Amino acid sequence: MASNQIPQAEPLNPAQQQVLDELGSTDRPTFRDDLRDHLRHELEEALLPIVESLPEVSRDQPLFVSKRKLSMAHGCETRYLADQAAPFEWSVPAARGTVAHKAIEILIGRRGKPTPLDLVHEALERLELDERSLGEFIRGLGEAERAELVGAVNEFVTTFTETFPPLKRQWIPVSESRVRANLCQDRVALQGVIDLSLGRARGNQAGKVLLDLKTGRPNISHIDDLRFYAMLEVLKLGTPPRLLVNYYLEAGEPRQEKVTEDLLWSTSKRVVDAILKMVELDEGRRKPGLTPSAMCRFCPALSTCDEGKAELARADEEMGFTH
Ligand code: SF4
Repeated sequence: MASNQIPQAEPLNPAQQQVLDELGSTDRPTFRDDLRDHLRHELEEALLPIVESLPEVSRDQPLFVSKRKLSMAHGCETRYLADQAAPFEWSVPAARGTVAHKAIEILIGRRGKPTPLDLVHEALERLELDERSLGEFIRGLGEAERAELVGAVNEFVTTFTETFPPLKRQWIPVSESRVRANLCQDRVALQGVIDLSLGRARGNQAGKVLLDLKTGRPNISHIDDLRFYAMLEVLKLGTPPRLLVNYYLEAGEPRQEKVTEDLLWSTSKRVVDAILKMVELDEGRRKPGLTPSAMCRFCPALSTCDEGKAELARADEEMGFTH
């Protein structure tokens, strides 16, 4: 290329163009100044009696609340308890998302055009230096398992780069951004990690887009997860994000929702309800219910749960998977 030629951006394919059109909308609502204070006040007022019923909860040992726990508490209560009791163990499917997000983080910071496979190998090399349990898991993988993990993450990252428009620096992309709200004099910690955020607020005018990158089929709980993160953003910054997007990689399809004040209030109520349930279940003050669903497949209690087995048999029959 001659030195005076300006490099042309690669044309976007229709999937990338759809994402750009949907996420790039110019609708940027303005929110009131005192939203953060009101939201915090309402949450603390509702949570304080719950926390005060737990003498062992303190500043040093707060009640940790994640999107996973919230979603479990609102799903099958027996599964929630079984999941709490089951020790977490890394596996290739469990590690895939974390490694893929690391690869996307590297993609954001990297000059040039690394291939998805370059990104995956670099992500693995960085993560295996980590002292925490994921590093230990990666270091302990045999050749075949490591290749399986590389293949699974490569598929994820390749699909992302094929269906999502190239991330521009002026979009202020941030991968794996941590959010946390300390409430009730640090005795409750609401926390989460946002897969990808783009843009930023200008004063009270919303500008940020929060994205969760999903494999598999859409599920109603995915919407609730992002609403929880939107609420945490308000508790952190005061200005909500403008858009919440679950991005389904296999379909190359963004599903989005605009953020409104009503959405934030209903989310805060849902969070308080879930925390009350969690505490009652943890303390044995509530008899756990059974709610069979497609999630039975991943439930640690499935082998002893007739309702769960019946639900999965029914679902398999519907899909024509019976022998
Ligand atoms: S198998 Fe299904 S119904 Fe049974 S405890 Fe687990 S999630 Fe609940």
